[in-house]
Amino acid sequence: MTQSPAAAKHRVVVVGAGFAGLYLVQGLKGAGCAITLIDQRNHHLFQPLLYQVATTLLSTSEIAWPIRRVLRDRPDVETLLARVTGIDRAGGQVLLETGDRVPFDTLVLATGARHAYFGHDEWEADAPGLKTLEDATTIRRRLLLAFERAELTLDAAERDANLTFAIIGGGPTGVELAGILADLAHRVLPREFRRIDTRTARIMLIEAGPRVLPVFAQSLSDYAAAALQRRGVQVLTGRPVTAISDRQVTIGDEAVPCRTVIWAAGVQASPAAEWLGAEADRAGRVMVDADLTLPGDPRIFVLGDTAHVEVDGKPVPGLAPAAKQQGQYAAAAIRARLAGKPAPGPFRYAHQGNLATIGRNAAVIDFGRIRLTGWLAWWIWGVAHVYFLIGVRSRLAVAINWLWSFLSRQNPARLITQKETARRD
Ligand SMILES: Cc1cc2nc3c(=O)[nH]c(=O)nc-3n(C[C@H](O)[C@H](O)[C@H](O)COP(=O)(O)OP(=O)(O)OC[C@H]3O[C@@H](n4cnc5c(N)ncnc54)[C@H](O)[C@@H]3O)c2cc1C
Repeated sequence: MTQSPAAAKHRVVVVGAGFAGLYLVQGLKGAGCAITLIDQRNHHLFQPLLYQVATTLLSTSEIAWPIRRVLRDRPDVETLLARVTGIDRAGGQVLLETGDRVPFDTLVLATGARHAYFGHDEWEADAPGLKTLEDATTIRRRLLLAFERAELTLDAAERDANLTFAIIGGGPTGVELAGILADLAHRVLPREFRRIDTRTARIMLIEAGPRVLPVFAQSLSDYAAAALQRRGVQVLTGRPVTAISDRQVTIGDEAVPCRTVIWAAGVQASPAAEWLGAEADRAGRVMVDADLTLPGDPRIFVLGDTAHVEVDGKPVPGLAPAAKQQGQYAAAAIRARLAGKPAPGPFRYAHQGNLATIGRNAAVIDFGRIRLTGWLAWWIWGVAHVYFLIGVRSRLAVAINWLWSFLSRQNPARLITQKETARRD
């Protein structure tokens, strides 16, 4: 690999331009180090709104931004589009899929998480999860094609199977997907189809545990389940899925013909622990010290969804604010080291609450003591998410899109594009 002009400076290599990596890089502005930011994608993605791309409310460019553009005013940062495949700890180098190596003085791993299929990786082709823009457009394509096929076929059983949708996992992503899909089938599409009544679509939200939104207060879970049912969603709790194919989903012993299955059930950390040969928890997250460094190797920080750190005896959750706070903390720690100052105290996590939408005019917000439901929660949720987007253009575009969809009852991003890669369509 060619030498960067800033090679004489302290080299900080950051892997992952998600929330943790980006906030870390922002926190190192003016610190006087040479930063190399490596990501396998050319964009930073706002994952909390992915489900709106999957369900035709937003377009991909409204929730993702080219990393180079975000950092164009930072000559101290070079950006490499590459997939990391390992770490040579002894040699102090990051290994890339291309065979190149990138040397580091300080390494920050912030490579996030991916789907976990609880030992059934073969389900992935028929039940894609939602993690990347490609996942979102794949799901959007399958949802829209299912309605098209139902309109086309003259076979009643085939029509019903195409109008049956299974969403597996009753966490925020599953609830949000089910709610918007119900809005799509009941409010947006009915006027446009002639042979089918899209309001007859069967949308199942399947959760193995006893309730949806398990990390929220019980009253908010109950509200969410009732709001989904009012929208026509079948909420099936305490019902584990036992098999998935391109023809059906099996819930317990019951096989339901179904052409569209979406996975929103489990996550597994990136393989950072394997790269490092480090101890990991059950979800594959690297066990880090209270200062977010690898035990015994203070050169290496591990942040965000790929790290396991406990504050006040509780693991920090895999949420965007936690990743951002970890990025800010690690930047402060690196700055202190470079300046020869004492390290900041252990990482502290400030929980900002749990939020989830259920659909038009319905959301739940759990700030601990303050709990909100209904239209007020929905508007607060919307304003908070617009605020956290990057740049004025995205904020305006998303706000206008939402307002337009709200007033017109139309979803603007409904093009079926690209070829299906996992299945034959
Ligand atoms: C559908 C969905 C909805 C969510 N909704 C919410 C929500 O409403 N509120 C909330 O607080 N949180 C939400 N989250 C969780 C939140 O998005 C994550 O906690 C947060 O993104 C974690 O940040 P991170 O920086 O650790 O990882 P990520 O943001 O996932 O970033 C990881 C980065 O690492 C890169 N990378 C991974 N592996 C490699 C490799 N081998 N080589 C190079 N680059 C690599 C990836 O391309 C990515 O850019 C949601 C997550 C999902 C998937």
